[in-house]
Amino acid sequence: MDFEEFSLDRRLLTPLSHQGLTTATDIQRQAIPVAMQGKDMIASSKTGSGKTLAFLLPAMQRVLKQRALSKRDARVLILTPTRELAKQVYGQLRLLVAGTGVKASLIVGGENFNDQAKQLLKDPQFIVGTPGRIADHLTQRQIHLNGLEMLILDEADRMLDLGFADQLLQINRAADHRLRQTLLFSATLDNTDVSSIAQQLLKAPVRVSIGGAN
Ligand code: ADP
Ligand code: MG
Repeated sequence: MDFEEFSLDRRLLTPLSHQGLTTATDIQRQAIPVAMQGKDMIASSKTGSGKTLAFLLPAMQRVLKQRALSKRDARVLILTPTRELAKQVYGQLRLLVAGTGVKASLIVGGENFNDQAKQLLKDPQFIVGTPGRIADHLTQRQIHLNGLEMLILDEADRMLDLGFADQLLQINRAADHRLRQTLLFSATLDNTDVSSIAQQLLKAPVRVSIGGAN
């Protein structure tokens, strides 16, 4: 199945073809339509199977095509377990937002907190970051999530292994409204911590699982 067949905005197809990407991977083929319907989803597939675009494309489609619930608040928040992963996701997102006017910020630990606060004042529609630093900015009221439309947990199993459950719950409370869509990606699903956080953060999730995962 080609990316052309998802009825994505043309502005998203151009950067894909520039990267030489034409055919969706299995997880993309299954997850993108579910996410584009606005449903909550728990998805798993092995490392390297293309999960990043499986959530970035539906998130970008939403931001390009639908009116914001709030002008000021972040619309999409993507959480990853580590700075390195956040940077990788942000790099892929940068290729998709180029030329669209959509703003994205990378908010991870180890970087200057005040510089990040200044970036957040520009009201980016996308925030990509690690749970600890995002939670710190929330506590300092530099991030507003009341109008958040999509919460995406990338590598949820690793985030929980690294002890981020409390931060995930804090972020969930700050973005707690009935219109929010939540997507959870994990390499493994047979994990009681993942099941527990999914039960607390997602509503009637659709499950998409490719192969035996990792
Ligand atoms: P995962 O998150 O499942 O580990 P990534 O999203 O990091 O996987 O993707 C792994 C690699 O596959 C990246 O280099 C990415 O550019 C590439 N990739 C993603 N989707 C496709 C596709 N549809 N066709 C070819 N390569 C792809
Ligand atoms: Mg990944």
